Amino acid sequence: MTVFCMIDDKYVPIYRVMWISAIPHFCGSPDCQHEGDYEVRLEQGESVWASQDERDAAVEAVEAWQNELPDESDLE
Ligand SMILES: [Zn+2]
Repeated sequence: MTVFCMIDDKYVPIYRVMWISAIPHFCGSPDCQHEGDYEVRLEQGESVWASQDERDAAVEAVEAWQNELPDESDLE
């Protein structure tokens, strides 16, 4: 399977995702470009901004990827 998910027109490697916001961004700033988007935090303090569909796809991709990792009990 692919290790990328498409967020904001970028292929993001899902192993770099630290967390995915459960609620849409709201900060009230008139200059904010990301009102209503879902923040996806990456390593090193970077963020990308996902639509709801992209957020849902990213969550599924991370879960699927996690399920493919070997169990600790499989490791010697
Ligand atoms: Zn904002």
